[in-house]
Amino acid sequence: MYKDYSALRSDLDAGKTSVLDNVKYYLTNIEKGKHLNAFLSVFEEDSLAHAARVDLKVKKGNAGRLAGMVIAVKDVLSVKGKTLTCGSKILHNFEPLYTATAVQRLIDEDAIIIGKTNCDEFAMGSSNENSAYGIVMNPLDNTRVPGGSSGGSAVAAAADMCMVSLGTDTGGSIRQPAALCGIVGLKPTYGRVSRKGLTAFASSFDCIGPFAKNVSDAALVLEVMAGHDDGDSTSADLPVQDCSSDLKFENKFTIGIVPELLKEGVQNEVCASISLVIDKLKSNGFNVKSISLPNLKYSIQAYYILTTAEASSNLARYDGARYGVRASNYSDLEEMYVNTRTEGFGAEVKRRIMLGTYVLSAGYYDAYYRKAQKVRRLIKNDFENAFKEVDLIVIPTTPTTAFKIGEKTGDPLQMYLNDIFTTSSNLSGNPAVSIPIGFDNDRLPIGLQIIGKDFDECSVLKLGNYIMRSC
Ligand code: GLN
Repeated sequence: MYKDYSALRSDLDAGKTSVLDNVKYYLTNIEKGKHLNAFLSVFEEDSLAHAARVDLKVKKGNAGRLAGMVIAVKDVLSVKGKTLTCGSKILHNFEPLYTATAVQRLIDEDAIIIGKTNCDEFAMGSSNENSAYGIVMNPLDNTRVPGGSSGGSAVAAAADMCMVSLGTDTGGSIRQPAALCGIVGLKPTYGRVSRKGLTAFASSFDCIGPFAKNVSDAALVLEVMAGHDDGDSTSADLPVQDCSSDLKFENKFTIGIVPELLKEGVQNEVCASISLVIDKLKSNGFNVKSISLPNLKYSIQAYYILTTAEASSNLARYDGARYGVRASNYSDLEEMYVNTRTEGFGAEVKRRIMLGTYVLSAGYYDAYYRKAQKVRRLIKNDFENAFKEVDLIVIPTTPTTAFKIGEKTGDPLQMYLNDIFTTSSNLSGNPAVSIPIGFDNDRLPIGLQIIGKDFDECSVLKLGNYIMRSC
């Protein structure tokens, strides 16, 4: 196993290993870890054939920036000719007609896409227990969840079934499973990576980002995926920072901490590990400043109103006429719609469609939807004010480490509360990374979250790299 992509690349360039061997290594691990249920499809033949082609390019010296990097992709992202299920029965056997821009950019740099990973249905969930294709297990303790909704991607990277994986983060679905599986997970700034080819959940929140075992691989993959795309009018036309080659951290940043968050409801060991990192940062000479994010406590409420509203609209397209599966029994068009959606969607997706339809309905729109939009603005203002005083903010990723499978499925509110620290930066759009900083008494990993200024992924990644190495 290579410590990171640059180590693999030097060996590839020196002829000490081949892309083919590397792909075989991961295919073997995928087979060994089958019980974890991380993959929904594995592209065995295609990835071996692709590996042979990339090996030739490496020999000729004209291989791309990601030559031979083995990547797994969450099954809400389109890959042409490969099924796209979104973890839902309603898209069983659906084949998209084009490849998502983010994935295509990786392929264009000679990365190998090894398969599609399991996830909560339409990316709705925090535990990967909402997939129509079965739960995913945490590789560190199979009785526990890996987090969600990108649980399969987190497990694939953590259990060494790929070098990097892609997830999506609408309310924490990259950072939370990264924390629960003990790896790095990056949610870029909203608009940094094109959403073309990503199945929409909540379009003004959805972000694509990488999981990796180290910061430099996450940085490299972000750089390749990022940048404007004509296929997504919300993708930012801004230069993409290059920091993967130089993650050195200059000790000039002021780091904001939020003492009000490290209190009740947060597992003791999570608070203790984060405090330890903060102490080390201080003793290493960093300027650490206490700040307040007064409206962060409303983020769960605002998030679940706004994202369900967007989801109710986005998921209206699954009507049995245009995409995927159609119910077999119906007597008229209306019944066809109803039966298709009743049979095709799982319980959590139905709950969100109902909630979203409710908050958008006449009479409730002002009370819920409009109010939540105002709260979204207040949360953005909190971050803008904080970033006048500090360069980066450090908070927990999750209130607890990985919980038991089945522990929270009976209580949606408890499940939603898991997202308490992640949803705010989706409401505001800011970039954020989760990095592993230690373990609790059950040897379960603890994540720390670093939030940065809009489009300043580089500083977020640099501090992450620094903490992983020096704290
Ligand atoms: N857990 C959150 C939810 O269920 C986040 C989902 C996501 O980021 N895709 O909505």
